[in-house]
Amino acid sequence: MRRWLRRQFGLLNPLYVCGLSRMERKLPVLCYHRLLPDMPGQTKSCMHIPPTLFETHVDRLSRLGFRFIGLEEFELMIRGQIRHDKRAILLTFDDGYKDLLLVYERLAKKYAFRATVFVIGSAVGKPGPLLLKSLDQPASEHLARHEDLWTALDWHDLRALQGLGADVGMHGHVHSPVSAIDPQEFRRQILKDSEAMKAALGFRPWAFALPYGQGESYTRQHLQELVARGFRLVFSTHSSRIRVPATHLPLPRLVVQPDEAPSVMCRNVFGASDIIGEFRRRRSPELSLQTWSPGKRPVERRVPRGTDR
Ligand SMILES: [Zn+2]
Repeated sequence: MRRWLRRQFGLLNPLYVCGLSRMERKLPVLCYHRLLPDMPGQTKSCMHIPPTLFETHVDRLSRLGFRFIGLEEFELMIRGQIRHDKRAILLTFDDGYKDLLLVYERLAKKYAFRATVFVIGSAVGKPGPLLLKSLDQPASEHLARHEDLWTALDWHDLRALQGLGADVGMHGHVHSPVSAIDPQEFRRQILKDSEAMKAALGFRPWAFALPYGQGESYTRQHLQELVARGFRLVFSTHSSRIRVPATHLPLPRLVVQPDEAPSVMCRNVFGASDIIGEFRRRRSPELSLQTWSPGKRPVERRVPRGTDR
């Protein structure tokens, strides 16, 4: 019935706006980037939040009863193959810098914390600001003093993260909108990165976070290519929670902005940005790819062993 109402009236349906949306099954995925301390005088964002603020986020979510899940459990849940847990949450980190490793080690000991990191194939292990063409003075000084934190995770680091319960996915071979890459070349890059990850980590990646991840940064053809190469999860940055069971790719994520207060993050986790994110997504239906059939009765399945680390 709710699905019928939504189909008939969409977001204009007052019943939907006034409350039925709250009864829906939704799963939040947070998208973080860097974890770097405050740099006084900084004028240009490095898409970072201070590690202490990130710990407050994790602490707040833990106190609210949220459970940090891994990719395998996440996939089963969004496909409706295990029971939806309204206090499940997936934390993701894009770009894959070493700053994550230090924080991860500490938080994994303190909380039942786990997250997924999306790495850039051609950047693994490389030093420098990587994605940022120019840094302002405070960031340059920080880079000079803490070069290690500005280096991309190498395969050894990624194995260490795996040992701490992290999942690893791809964030492109280069950090550019995939729509700018010729589909043949895109396929070649995916295969190259998949082989490299298989050799270094023992598995082919099956989750992909689209660089930039909004409207013009990808096409349906690129999504089809990813699915054809075995990527079962593809994430965008359309800021809303995922409706469960999910039937289309890419899957939206809630992007955590630099210095975002825990209260703002929590409001989004409980759905504050769903309507806007959904609206943006619906504006470009040609950019979504149906991969799973809707309406199938969910099959209860156990979470595979070893995923609840
Ligand atoms: Zn990125």
